[in-house]
Amino acid sequence: MQIAFIGLGNMGAPMAVNLAKAGHSVKAFDLSRDAVAKVAGAGCQAAASAEDAVKGAEVVISMLPASQHVEGLYLGRDGAAGLLAHIAKGVLVIDSSTIAAATSQKVAKAAETAGIGFIDAPVSGGTGGAIAGTLTFMVGGSDADLERARPLLEKMGANIFHAGAVGAGQTAKICNNMLLGILMVGTSEAIALGVANGLDPKVLSEIMRRSSGGNWALEKYNPFPGVHENAPASKGYAGGFGTDLMLKDLGLAQENAIATRASTPLGGMARAVYAAHSLAGHGTEDFSSVIKMLQKK
Ligand code: NAD
Repeated sequence: MQIAFIGLGNMGAPMAVNLAKAGHSVKAFDLSRDAVAKVAGAGCQAAASAEDAVKGAEVVISMLPASQHVEGLYLGRDGAAGLLAHIAKGVLVIDSSTIAAATSQKVAKAAETAGIGFIDAPVSGGTGGAIAGTLTFMVGGSDADLERARPLLEKMGANIFHAGAVGAGQTAKICNNMLLGILMVGTSEAIALGVANGLDPKVLSEIMRRSSGGNWALEKYNPFPGVHENAPASKGYAGGFGTDLMLKDLGLAQENAIATRASTPLGGMARAVYAAHSLAGHGTEDFSSVIKMLQKK
């Protein structure tokens, strides 16, 4: 299949490469030339622009940071036409970025008017899952569009859930990430407390992992350096899932909670913790670096 892939960051790059490895023809674009060069060396074709990438594409996949990037790309910004004007009728757009459900719905509506299919398909599983091709996809869209996307999603992920109509994938994703943001702060607090009492972080983490406090961070993504060799914490908190991206997701959850009058006290508190951590200069570090603000100096 001829695929256009736009957004080749920590997640997009390995996802695009997995599609190329599966035998698809992937024309890839990112605003960063280095990011394009990296995937071009791993089986994808380099596109000169987003418009170039979508020429002849049967499916367009995007993996961008936030709502404004997705809306700007597809619908245009500063009066310029968006990418939808360059995508052929009948093509399917799969947006895997984590963005506001309302933005997914806005782009989907414009796509429909142009005769283009659209699903929101945000993911979970981290960069490790993106590299291994074991992501979880949370899809919002029609049955028919999901079935068209499924063979491609299966090359990038191990679990595919149909959450509902367009936007529902995003709603599921922000519920998940609100929980993840909370549990990373909680896990960091517990480890920092143990370490302040002289416990070995590796031993304590293993005790909690096998006890009632067990969670994904303790399984795969320990915030304390050296506990998990492949976790961002052991690589100077580089790569992974940026603090500012987590802050964006917790903001989306709070906006949603305000709109639906839901009570999400810990989600609100977690957002405040990551906001302070970002302001202290850690916005581009992996979100597990939040342990730094909870540790004794
Ligand atoms: P990232 O910042 O590493 O990558 C984003 C890429 O998009 C960058 O390379 C940037 O240059 C590019 N970009 C921005 N605007 C563009 C445009 N108009 N055209 C082309 N390229 C453009 O981010 P990431 O970690 O890969 O995350 C991407 C999305 O996936 C975010 O919405 C994030 O919340 C979500 N997500 C991330 C993780 C993770 O572990 N990193 C996990 C699940 C979901």
